[in-house]
Amino acid sequence: HQPKDFLLAVSGLTVSFDGFKAVNDLSFYVEENEIRVIIGPNGAGKTTVLDLICGKTKATSGSIQFRGKELTKMRENEIVQTGVGRKFQTPSVFEDLTVFENLEISFPRGRTVFGSLTFQRDQPVKDRVEEVAEMIFLKDKLSTYADELSHGQKQWLEIGMLLIQDPDLLMLDEPVAGMSVSERAKTAELLNRIIKNRSVLVIEHDMKFVEDIAHKVTVLHQGQILSEGTMEKVKNDPKVIEVYLGH
Ligand code: ADP
Repeated sequence: HQPKDFLLAVSGLTVSFDGFKAVNDLSFYVEENEIRVIIGPNGAGKTTVLDLICGKTKATSGSIQFRGKELTKMRENEIVQTGVGRKFQTPSVFEDLTVFENLEISFPRGRTVFGSLTFQRDQPVKDRVEEVAEMIFLKDKLSTYADELSHGQKQWLEIGMLLIQDPDLLMLDEPVAGMSVSERAKTAELLNRIIKNRSVLVIEHDMKFVEDIAHKVTVLHQGQILSEGTMEKVKNDPKVIEVYLGH
């Protein structure tokens, strides 16, 4: 496979902070319709990798190709327009707006310049809001104010606010942190629904959830790949066991 055959191709990516390489010559490739999970101990470089992809942090060297476009030279807002969506760990919904309004204001009006939007431009906003609300289990909460939602429902709403922009890659940082068991199961269902049209790149610490959702796991350690493959493969990898158990 060539890098251009993948949805996302990260090659030789490095970022130094005052000489410290938080991400060090990292290469990994994400396919279409894939759920990829990045795991690794604290300080491994997971958040920095997502920051590099979304343009929040600039790479020192290396390449990030998304649908064949080089992202490392683009500004954050340009990267969003290529179809990359990023959700941070803390929910940032508008508490004093309803579910409907939160989704409606996230609808990407006039953002078709880069041609990454796949839904029809003339589709009424209302239909799209309802479609997304159904996907995120909030169809019956459209007129509920966001501050009345549970923590898990707020997390889904924020995912919905990204989904309404129809990204081709959705990046999530610990999506099930603080969720109940049933909310975790529904989040797994949600991710499996949304990858029909896109790929998802997730940082996650909850190994049970990783096991449930990951098509492939990338284990980071000291800014480099320690192991990569199915959960079954990486959890039996002696290098991974050593890092996690501190032997
Ligand atoms: P993880 O998400 O795996 O816990 P991070 O990506 O947050 O790891 O951090 C990787 C390393 O890079 C850590 O040692 C962290 O202190 C360092 N780091 C991250 N961002 C910066 C920054 N802006 N300036 C200096 N050091 C940073």
